[in-house]
Amino acid sequence: MSASAERRLGDRIARELYRDPDFIDDPVLTDYVQGIWQPLLNAARARGDLTPELDERFAWRIVLGRDRSVNAFALPGGYFGLHLGLLSVVSSRDELASVLGHELSHVTQRHISRLISRSNQQTPWMIGAMILGALAASKNPEAGNALIVGGQALSAQGQLNFSRDMEREADRIGFGVMTQAGFEALGFVSMFDKLQQAARLNDSGAYPYLRSHPLTTERIADMQSRLPLGAPHGADAVPGMAHALLTARARVLSNPGADALRGWLAQADDAGLSGQAAAQQAGTLYGAAMAASRMRDAAQARRQLTRLQKVVLADPEAVRQVRWLGLEIELAAPDRSRQQLLALGAEIGLDPAQPAPAAALRRPDLVLQTQLAMQGGQARLLDQVAQNLQAWLLRQPQDALAWQSLASIYAAQNQTLRALRAEAEAQVAQLDYAGALNRLKAAQDRQRAPGASNSSAEHIDASIIDTRRRQIEVLLKEQAQEP
Ligand SMILES: [Zn+2]
Repeated sequence: MSASAERRLGDRIARELYRDPDFIDDPVLTDYVQGIWQPLLNAARARGDLTPELDERFAWRIVLGRDRSVNAFALPGGYFGLHLGLLSVVSSRDELASVLGHELSHVTQRHISRLISRSNQQTPWMIGAMILGALAASKNPEAGNALIVGGQALSAQGQLNFSRDMEREADRIGFGVMTQAGFEALGFVSMFDKLQQAARLNDSGAYPYLRSHPLTTERIADMQSRLPLGAPHGADAVPGMAHALLTARARVLSNPGADALRGWLAQADDAGLSGQAAAQQAGTLYGAAMAASRMRDAAQARRQLTRLQKVVLADPEAVRQVRWLGLEIELAAPDRSRQQLLALGAEIGLDPAQPAPAAALRRPDLVLQTQLAMQGGQARLLDQVAQNLQAWLLRQPQDALAWQSLASIYAAQNQTLRALRAEAEAQVAQLDYAGALNRLKAAQDRQRAPGASNSSAEHIDASIIDTRRRQIEVLLKEQAQEP
């Protein structure tokens, strides 16, 4: 199967994943995952595992799912699924890097195209439909494991069932990629230990990753032979402060039921908390502050946040994470004043008197800036955020959430044509060309309506919209012609 055919198949699957109600683009978690994913990609490039051709043809995108099960999987065309359940159980960045490095290597080694080529009686359309069907089925734990289709190319978890040799190759290359990227080899070991423990407890229902990645004795022996002699084995990885916060966030987002939220608050007020390691305390307090905010108890959320701020003081990255959480809490709180919101905005560079340089802003800053500017409603703030988002999108044109944020800022500025165009780009970024065309047509209708503004700025916008419409019509036609 050629790289471009595989990419088209991947696009078709990804388009459906983006529409799935379980799809989640949480800016804070995405920022964290990207902080691990990009160095892995760079290392794979430097090692020559990721060739320039494949680098360009494939998407190399991770799609997050809200699902509580522990799972990560490679899909055709350089797309990857990652469940919040896995983010909830990894104890360090290194452990997450070991899983992602492994999945990345399945794709750089073209394991997927080899499997698909083997099941050559299936058209790509059928394979895509089967992968999607299996992914949907895997959400139901009672679905069993009888779904073996496409020449065993698929397991019940919707994953391609790689051969043992492929698994060993992904282990070997993934290990090289993660260590070259600067992650600790120990993460590989402790992740194995974690999976082994789950296997002993027979917890494969919650660990679909185990069913697709059985820990064979060869894999374990291989892994041990790669570690330097005398390297600690079986030691618990000590989670960093920022990692502990992210894990707590993944747990709250994947399990937002009222009982679970109350559980976080009970843990935070447990007398034993002060005896725990600082990172653990921070995770618990972060979860509690977030849970209280979700239960619409702003006073409680602020109380837990204040405790949390004291614990994380010495860790600049954790301080930043806590600042983002503080803003989320205030944005959700019913009783804060516009003045308070503006003061908070200055903490993430939203300050007309002293704007932060665009390059210093991270994605959660931008998304929070958007929400603050929308609530604050001041023209100067809206302008500043629009500029920041435009600068970001020049570098990240496929960021659907950033396009959506820009669309809402434009709408608040009464720039209707631009808002519709930004909405169209958000649809393009998630591969929904029909949806994009729909927005662009709406923009053209407005432009042609009697009484439409006729300024030169609107003329420029209108010509951009015409061009984009023609380009997207071509993409849509290509999509429709696929076998
Ligand atoms: Zn694998």
